[in-house]
Amino acid sequence: MSFEMVLKVFNTLGRRKEEFIPVNPGEVRIYVCGPTVYDYIHIGNARAFVVADIVCRYLRYKGFKVRYVSNITDIDDKIINRARDLGISIQELAETYSDAYFEDIAKLNIEKADVTPRATQHIPEMIETIEKLIGKGYAYVADGDVYFDVSKFKDYGKLSGNKAEALEIGARIEVNPKKKNPADFVLWKSRKPREPGWYSPWGKGRPGWHIECSTMAQKYLGETIDIHMGGKDLIFPHHENEIAQAEALTNKPFVKYWLHNEWLTVEGEKMSKSLGNFVTVRDALKMCSPAVLRFFLLSAHYRSPLDFNRDALKTTGRNLERLIRALERLNGAPERETRVIEDEMLISEVEAEKKKFEEAMDDDFNTPLAISALFSIARLVNNYLNVNKTIEKATKRRVLKVFINLLGVLGIEWAKDKRETRTDELFKGILELLIDVRNELRRMKKWEIADRIRDDLGKMGIILEDAGKETKWMIKSENL
Ligand SMILES: [Zn+2]
Repeated sequence: MSFEMVLKVFNTLGRRKEEFIPVNPGEVRIYVCGPTVYDYIHIGNARAFVVADIVCRYLRYKGFKVRYVSNITDIDDKIINRARDLGISIQELAETYSDAYFEDIAKLNIEKADVTPRATQHIPEMIETIEKLIGKGYAYVADGDVYFDVSKFKDYGKLSGNKAEALEIGARIEVNPKKKNPADFVLWKSRKPREPGWYSPWGKGRPGWHIECSTMAQKYLGETIDIHMGGKDLIFPHHENEIAQAEALTNKPFVKYWLHNEWLTVEGEKMSKSLGNFVTVRDALKMCSPAVLRFFLLSAHYRSPLDFNRDALKTTGRNLERLIRALERLNGAPERETRVIEDEMLISEVEAEKKKFEEAMDDDFNTPLAISALFSIARLVNNYLNVNKTIEKATKRRVLKVFINLLGVLGIEWAKDKRETRTDELFKGILELLIDVRNELRRMKKWEIADRIRDDLGKMGIILEDAGKETKWMIKSENL
């Protein structure tokens, strides 16, 4: 509980760092744009979700009550097209990939949002919002579609800096004769043949993507929310349009702080399906453990670019190993009852690093700086144990607690049990490999080497028993 330290966040709205003051004291309401479930999530998506996760974790660590909502977009052109290509229903496709999404984020130790609303389960709410926007003169019906009239919303462009007038000149917007202004965006799309559709006052159709997020954010978090997050690719048009819809509806600010994370590149290139360098979380987890991937995603500040490549993963793996080794060394260090001056010093130095960690996180969630404070703690622990063979019991407990808590803020759990299981598995694997090699040698009648393997294992306390073609192993009891 450290309210005394001021948290600063970089607000995309206004493009500057601001002191974070939630709408209701002590309480933070966060919305994060979730996945469109037509494929596995990629590591760029994972970066956005990991960043949102550490924001939630750090706010909780500071003592705030956090309510976190992240949606599932389960109706969209991409979903319709992919389901058609695969010859399955959109429900089946969306179900498959939303399950996969929840599995992937759980592996990365991303805490599940308090609410994960699905677009298709909120159609009546979206229709109601659209009707209100039409009633207030911000939206118009055109041949079964409904559009938002950006010329009516004076603040349009305040987040992205893209003004409606400038957009009209821009050639990137497709020409649509149904629109009054080229920058107008769709709230409701009329159903095309072979597409799913819901009944509405404007005929059968489906909601646009933008209306989905602002409607669900307001339903679960209220008219003004504290933090809205997402990748920077969402600033325009998605978040700009969310603001227009929500603020036109309520005449109140929709979001107090907009936080956007930078790109993730793959070996120096922007990730894209056409370049063939699209890395899903599942692909990445074939290259490293979930903890290493997570630690890698936090190794750069969220507003800095981050490049995914094998060398970076290797370095991250080594770094994380260094932290965990220091933690385990401390945990296993022999204890003593008496406190000496070195214990006092260790505690005060570790507390100073904890403060540095908090200052770094208070400065717009500067994770690389926070991580460097963790390395300092690891170094302090190692230096202490290089000199002192034992550690005072209470000192050990206190330092362990700081170390584990701060790692926990970054979502890195010290998986002591898992590590032991892993060592067990490795041991069994290597032993079985040795037995296979030995049996191969026996088939080749190389008795001498085969016997040496059995005898040397025996000296280590592992007994091999040949029974027919099979060889069993057991560990000699320590009492014998
Ligand atoms: Zn969204």
